[in-house]
Amino acid sequence: MSATPLKVIIIGAGVAGLVAARHLEEAGISPIIIDAEDRVGGRLKTDREQGFLLDRGFQVLLTEYPEVKRYLDLEALAINTYRPGAHVHTRTQHFRFVDPLREPAQVIRSALSPLGVLADKVKLGQLGLRLRAASNEACFEGYESKPTIDYLREIGFTEQIIERFFRPFFGGIFLEQELATPAAMFRYIFKMFGSGSAALPAGGIEAIPRQLAAQLQQSEFRFNQRVRNVNGNQVTLDDGSQLSADGIILACAPDRLVEGLSGQTEGWKSTTNLYYYSSRRLRENRLINLVFDPTSTINTFTVLDEVSPNYRGEKQGGSLISITLKKSLGSDEGIAQVEQDFLRHSRLPSDALTFLRRYNIERALPKISQVAFKQDPSHSRLTESIFLAGDQQLNGSLDAAMRSGRLAALGLLEAAS
Ligand SMILES: Cc1cc2nc3c(=O)[nH]c(=O)nc-3n(C[C@H](O)[C@H](O)[C@H](O)COP(=O)(O)OP(=O)(O)OC[C@H]3O[C@@H](n4cnc5c(N)ncnc54)[C@H](O)[C@@H]3O)c2cc1C
Repeated sequence: MSATPLKVIIIGAGVAGLVAARHLEEAGISPIIIDAEDRVGGRLKTDREQGFLLDRGFQVLLTEYPEVKRYLDLEALAINTYRPGAHVHTRTQHFRFVDPLREPAQVIRSALSPLGVLADKVKLGQLGLRLRAASNEACFEGYESKPTIDYLREIGFTEQIIERFFRPFFGGIFLEQELATPAAMFRYIFKMFGSGSAALPAGGIEAIPRQLAAQLQQSEFRFNQRVRNVNGNQVTLDDGSQLSADGIILACAPDRLVEGLSGQTEGWKSTTNLYYYSSRRLRENRLINLVFDPTSTINTFTVLDEVSPNYRGEKQGGSLISITLKKSLGSDEGIAQVEQDFLRHSRLPSDALTFLRRYNIERALPKISQVAFKQDPSHSRLTESIFLAGDQQLNGSLDAAMRSGRLAALGLLEAAS
């Protein structure tokens, strides 16, 4: 690489690219950030529909993530938090479980709930305490590839609590119902939920990348420009124009851009998320709703404006509902069955519901069979001048995406020094 001032191109204006830019700026570099879309955010986007805020896919901000603490001003994001627990809907029962470690007043109600047997709840409490005391690294070590479902069974949880709680809750987070995702992710996310809060920024999930972008002073954004490939120090755009740089950070999936990398990523998990407005208010006490009903298409649903009133815009009364399905739908598949299932779980009258929007997200989370918490910055280096960032480098989370951005920037700076 040449001596400073370095010319650096970052491909991808998601949180990984934005964090990488911040560290390059701190080193006196003014990167060019190229993105195929019209604005920053990548997978963290929020649309406005009839005044409602609709996140592209159901997402939460975990306040305990170390990278969230490091880079985000939660006060400025005006976050609102979920209660630590869930409403569970089986075919015949509807009950609530609130984490008694967080809300001790709920201990008796939670102990008696049919979430699992009493021993399950004792184990749940013990696991929560154990993981809270463990370091983030220890959550990963030794569990990088063991499937979550095997881990839960080894601990001795009954099938009842696995089906009623772990499968819908973590299936919704991992975007896969088999719970094949490595137990490291389960342990880490469980710790994050137990030690902090799940939250929504008042401005929608896209407020996160917008805040990161607003912190940048010297970066140049180029939107609506798709990169076709990257070769050595050259970036070729879809229109055939070329740019060259001393260093290039790929803050997006690299397999389609760099020759020889295709087929190296393990693929992606998809999801379908639907939004409805209910003219009748649905009261769920800021809890996420988990569905354990094998006949239902629905995995979880949430009354978003109970958690974050801003999501409802100017609309008074009624509820904004986000529904996530167990299995993503093809673009030609209808949603009549989903609506029927939702009316059954929510016990709302059918004339209360107005459909707002549907999101089919094909590349929602990377499939990674061996996850990592972090890596040495030098491991981000792919070639002499190309460095890799993005959640697929470590694990599928906002936390990992931000960390990967820093590691790629540090890797590039180390290589240049
Ligand atoms: C539905 C859903 C729910 C989620 N829930 C959670 C959650 O609750 N908690 C959590 O921690 N994480 C969650 N995640 C994961 C989290 O959103 C991602 O890990 C994170 O946003 C990834 O950021 P990134 O910068 O690595 O990638 P991206 O956000 O994907 O950014 C990559 C950018 O690169 C651009 N790009 C790609 N190819 C090109 C090209 N050829 N030319 C130019 N630009 C290109 C894209 O347009 C994009 O802007 C969820 C994700 C989804 C989709």
